[in-house]
Amino acid sequence: MTKTYAIGIDMGNSITSIGIVDTQGNIINKSSVNSSHQHISEYIDSIYNHLSILIEQQGGIDNIKGVGISSPDGNYFTGCVEFAPEHSWSGNTPIAQILADKLQLPVTLTNGANAAAMGEMEYGIAQGMKDFILISLDDEVCRGAVANGEIIYGHNIFSGKSGHINVHNDRGRVCKCGRKDCLEAYCSADGIITTALELLTSSKETSTLRNIPQNELTFENIYEASIQGDSLAKEAFRFTGDILGQLLSDLIAYSSPKAFILSGKVAKSNEHFIQAIEKSFKDNLLQIYAGKTKILTSDIENSEAIILGTSLLACNSKLVDA
Ligand SMILES: [Zn+2]
Repeated sequence: MTKTYAIGIDMGNSITSIGIVDTQGNIINKSSVNSSHQHISEYIDSIYNHLSILIEQQGGIDNIKGVGISSPDGNYFTGCVEFAPEHSWSGNTPIAQILADKLQLPVTLTNGANAAAMGEMEYGIAQGMKDFILISLDDEVCRGAVANGEIIYGHNIFSGKSGHINVHNDRGRVCKCGRKDCLEAYCSADGIITTALELLTSSKETSTLRNIPQNELTFENIYEASIQGDSLAKEAFRFTGDILGQLLSDLIAYSSPKAFILSGKVAKSNEHFIQAIEKSFKDNLLQIYAGKTKILTSDIENSEAIILGTSLLACNSKLVDA
């Protein structure tokens, strides 16, 4: 029997999104489960229960080629989730093997930014590109780099942790990893909240954000205020764009990509933010690179790009066979 579908799973910090993908790259059925469980067995059972329903709706397991799953700390080579401090079951967890045993399907693991890069290359804005760098700007900041049409994994898989590159800002902002002035401390959703709070404290400028208790301020509040023209909210994005543009002007020397592709909810923010990135990028760029690399914004929702990318892994790799 021809196997028609593949399963892609985006293991987010709070929500795990599951999708059934057909051979044309259409996500034809979706579900989601809570990522927070005390024990890994409870988490796997939850995924299994939701997946079983989706699989049945597509005619049963004989129609499924395999499963791809992504985690921010997923190791493509070993199938293990490493580190993962956001989960109580963190440690070196062989999640691909555990899920393969449960589902009786081949399962391949990777990290989210690499999966999103694969999804963009096959179905999204990077179609036809062989050299590009995807920067995912969300609750975390990660990078998926493609050179000569291949994902760059690095010798130990963790080449995509670009959220923890030092941006040499003099604010000394502490990152979740414990170091200071990582990119993620500025350019994640939380980073923008921190910037807005600093601006609210350091200036007397009127802002609709002052109507919101500081401990309740969200990224979405700042985004909406910036769209409405709130100067302080716009300044939070300008400051963030300035930092990111400068970093991209350095990263270009890494692999001379055809494009930087920005994805995630922070990237899809607003024109003002993108303009700030482009200005800073241009101002800091080495002359030899001028006009040779585009900055593009993904038009696929980040989780969907990851589901598409992981579904490709499910079709092409069988690192962990049931
Ligand atoms: Zn860090």
